[in-house]
Amino acid sequence: MRVLVTGGAGYIGSTAVDILTTQGYEVSVFDDCSTGHGDNVPTGITFIQGSLLNRSEIAQALKGCDAVMHFAGKSLVGESVEKPELYWSVNVGGTRNLLDEMRVARISKLIFSSSAATYGEPEVLPILESASNKPTNAYGATKLAVDAMITDEARGHGLSAASLRYFNVAGALKSTRGWLTERHNPETHLIPNVLRSTPANPVKIFGSDWPTKDGTCIRDYVHVVDLIDAHIKALNSLSKPGHEIFNLGSGGGYSVREVIAAASDAIGSQIPFIDSPRRAGDPAVLIADISKAKRVLGWEPTRNLEAMVSDTLASFG
Ligand code: UDP
Repeated sequence: MRVLVTGGAGYIGSTAVDILTTQGYEVSVFDDCSTGHGDNVPTGITFIQGSLLNRSEIAQALKGCDAVMHFAGKSLVGESVEKPELYWSVNVGGTRNLLDEMRVARISKLIFSSSAATYGEPEVLPILESASNKPTNAYGATKLAVDAMITDEARGHGLSAASLRYFNVAGALKSTRGWLTERHNPETHLIPNVLRSTPANPVKIFGSDWPTKDGTCIRDYVHVVDLIDAHIKALNSLSKPGHEIFNLGSGGGYSVREVIAAASDAIGSQIPFIDSPRRAGDPAVLIADISKAKRVLGWEPTRNLEAMVSDTLASFG
């Protein structure tokens, strides 16, 4: 089976490319390298550098493929609030183009990178896939819109698809070519920021007055290797027209202070931090209910916070 990995030059997509290849899948990569890095794509892999906004480039990339893992898209919450048009254009318009070209090419299997940002501020914890969707930013709104588009595509045109709603992805994979690390600029994610904290430039804790046990936000972290394992299981579960949505997290949560403590243990000294104001748009607690992915896909995350911290640290070299 040949899988087109859109966004295959990015952090999560390149991890998928590596694991798919190791497991014997043929892989093509489609990426515009706006945030991804071409050097993440191994030599010997079919790599089409192109845009989701260009249908002929998508058509070219789909040649010979049997399925698509769609990671490409804009993914920064803050940027999505400042430039919503970019998010609607690339995430929604771009995915519309992809679905249209998949239909032309008669490719009917799709795994989509959705997000827990579709849920917004949760009413009930842990969050089930059936929870209400009230995204609090354009990023979450566009992921939700794409999920709706995929549902309709499955109903109308027989697409067989799964949307995977990521909670907080962390960690890294050591490939044969070295670590596939997070290289975002600017970096907004907690674990990389904690590991790069210095006394002169300490990591900011965004809010220490949240209604949680230690006053800091709680998030559900999942290792990128476990995440990709779920993608492959989801791909193999696609057998008939339809669209299923699965949460991917660990099913448990850690506070910002607990993450800093785990990272301090990993490096053997206290990581400097500074208590700072809350960040706009942050919910206090996000924890996934992952029972559907466990039950339907037979998936179980196996890597804990310590592994996520130590692999991220190792990937920074
Ligand atoms: N956070 C923080 N300092 C940082 C980055 C993040 O305190 O430099 C907090 C953030 O407010 C949230 C958690 O860490 O509660 C995880 O944030 P991240 O941006 O990694 O992921 P998000 O949950 O926003 O997807």
